[in-house]
Amino acid sequence: MPPASIDRTDRFCIIGAGPAGLAMAAALKAAGVPYDQVERHSRVGGLWDIENPGSPMYESAHLISSRTMSAFAGFPMPATYPDYPRHDRVLAYLRSFATAHSLEPGIEFGRAVDAVEPHGGGATVMLGDERRTYRGVICATGTNWDPLLPEWPGTPQAEVRHVRAYRSPDELRGKRVLVVGLGNSGADIACDAARVASAAYVSVRRGYHFVPKHVFGTPADVFAHSGPRLPRWLETPLFGLLLRLLIGNTRKLGMPKPDHRVLESHPLMNDQLLSHLRHGDVRLVADVERFDGGEVVLRDGERLGVDLVLLATGYTKRIPYLDPAHLDGSWAAGQLLTAFSRKYDSLFTLGFAEINGALFPHLSRLSALIAQVARAELHDPIAAERFLKWLRGTSFDLTGGRRLIPTQRHQHYTDEHALEQATRRAFRRMSWTWPSEPNILYQELFILLQNTLADLSLEGDEPRDRRPARSESLPTAAR
Ligand SMILES: Cc1cc2nc3c(=O)[nH]c(=O)nc-3n(C[C@H](O)[C@H](O)[C@H](O)COP(=O)(O)OP(=O)(O)OC[C@H]3O[C@@H](n4cnc5c(N)ncnc54)[C@H](O)[C@@H]3O)c2cc1C
Repeated sequence: MPPASIDRTDRFCIIGAGPAGLAMAAALKAAGVPYDQVERHSRVGGLWDIENPGSPMYESAHLISSRTMSAFAGFPMPATYPDYPRHDRVLAYLRSFATAHSLEPGIEFGRAVDAVEPHGGGATVMLGDERRTYRGVICATGTNWDPLLPEWPGTPQAEVRHVRAYRSPDELRGKRVLVVGLGNSGADIACDAARVASAAYVSVRRGYHFVPKHVFGTPADVFAHSGPRLPRWLETPLFGLLLRLLIGNTRKLGMPKPDHRVLESHPLMNDQLLSHLRHGDVRLVADVERFDGGEVVLRDGERLGVDLVLLATGYTKRIPYLDPAHLDGSWAAGQLLTAFSRKYDSLFTLGFAEINGALFPHLSRLSALIAQVARAELHDPIAAERFLKWLRGTSFDLTGGRRLIPTQRHQHYTDEHALEQATRRAFRRMSWTWPSEPNILYQELFILLQNTLADLSLEGDEPRDRRPARSESLPTAAR
């Protein structure tokens, strides 16, 4: 007999305590909405915790969006952090966010959700033998847990595995390594291989545009946000020209001619790989065709003898504890702001959008919106119904007018400006208060100006540390 359901219909359930789950908990707390939160790991941080079993994190991983742009709204990363912090600093930041909002005492750690069944009056959550019914459920369990595995004919003699299980360059030392796929993880791991492997190759199916992490000494995303918003017809060629001037012709390095324009695929941000390619420590090779004994045969006929094939081929975006029929294309074409269900008032999905910028600020905004809807569902059902009716009848173009390459990754790809505008529109529609966001960009420009002035005044002085000695203090209170 199925266990009797525990009635929790006075509250919501957040599944996951990674960045999305933490942002959601802080937003529900701020809106005074009661909730439970369940996390299968023993602590907060999601995939940024390299100890979280199954996390795709590896020792050399750093943010690819800058610390300036990557912070939650109103909770900046410490100014003492480098422009692109390593994974352990991101984890420390996430923990400080949880502490500042007193979130940890409300989390049930070590509990995995097995199934979620939304229905008219709420949603049922299965946790082992326990069955609970909530007013609503927010799925915040991330998209980087189920490897996408390509298959090729032939039986390889080399070890073949997905990069999800990759942790350290020690795994590559002295081996002939082929990395398949040139997303940001593939590029990082190719750099690890370039340093320690006896031979390093990266197999690419198509050409990509490199985007440098800094433009004129400023993080690329800060640079992009600092200028005026250009119309798409001008932005794309101008940015393409800038990249060409900064990076040069990558076809000399073996990169195939991209079949798309810059900004029409997820940006490949890796300066080190360019350097390794230029020094011949790693080589770009063609797409894999098949395995033939000890060799990998490529589409251009080249044969490579390798010991280890690492598949940096991405992840399947799915929610394993939810019947996909319940989503019913909710994420398609950026519908419903990526967070709401077409069918159920009680189902929310946070953190599943693939964005061409930093994710955390959007998690803050979307969680604030979900929190408003949740509060309305409990206290003002007419307003909640009015909002959801409007949302379901409105279509948003979250691609920002870009024509994206037709890969699985880009199926639900979202432009950060389009998403921000659409979210603002939703807040305006209901006259809800937009979450306060101090303009961190101006703060950064101010620091830059200060440092430049300090540089000028130091001309001719003894070299000394230009920043005041500060501990790597993390913010402790929400601002
Ligand atoms: C190498 C790498 C670099 C990245 N760099 C950037 C970057 O520079 N900028 C950026 O914005 N994003 C980056 N990302 C994207 C990254 O996915 C997000 O930053 C962020 O971690 C997503 O947060 P999340 O909470 O949605 O998911 P996750 O971080 O995956 O957290 C999900 C949580 O849910 C828990 N969970 C899963 N299933 C269950 C269950 N059934 N029951 C209970 N708990 C469960 C997990 O244990 C985990 O704690 C990067 C990703 C990778 C892999």
